[in-house]
Amino acid sequence: MKHSILIHPDPRLKKICAPVADLSDKLRLLADDMLETMYAAPGIGLAAPQIGVMDRLIVLDCEKEEGVEPKPLVMFNPEIISASDETNVYEEGCLSIPEQYGDIERPAEVKVRWLDLDGNLQERDFDGLWATCVQHEIDHLNGKLFIDYLKPLRRQMITRKMMKLKRERAREAD
Ligand SMILES: [Zn+2]
Repeated sequence: MKHSILIHPDPRLKKICAPVADLSDKLRLLADDMLETMYAAPGIGLAAPQIGVMDRLIVLDCEKEEGVEPKPLVMFNPEIISASDETNVYEEGCLSIPEQYGDIERPAEVKVRWLDLDGNLQERDFDGLWATCVQHEIDHLNGKLFIDYLKPLRRQMITRKMMKLKRERAREAD
């Protein structure tokens, strides 16, 4: 089932999410829903708080090449356990901040540990777009958005645009 995605500003996007204690079928179903919601958007990553669920759960798939099998990843309680000194700059966007982009500098490589759908601990190194995406999604679990890395004026401008967008959408829904 596709969910609607919260748009910034929203208090739920500023909260720290709780670790997942037990992998229930309900959580697995939620992960499926999140992948469906992400692919439909379309996007390359989605965090549970973006659909109003305050659990430490993210999904991502940064495989962009046409005709290549999708490579969905579902991560419960993801944790960055090491990061390179070397950095990368990518133009980031966010499904909760539609049509706004910013150049963000982050570690170029990260090692991430997480629980997979079967409850097994996984560990993997990520680089390139995958590294940026996984860091962006984990930030969401800590109430942090990519615009928080931008200068205050730029961030305020984007927030005002989003407030306007939300008013327009609310009006259309009437
Ligand atoms: Zn995002």
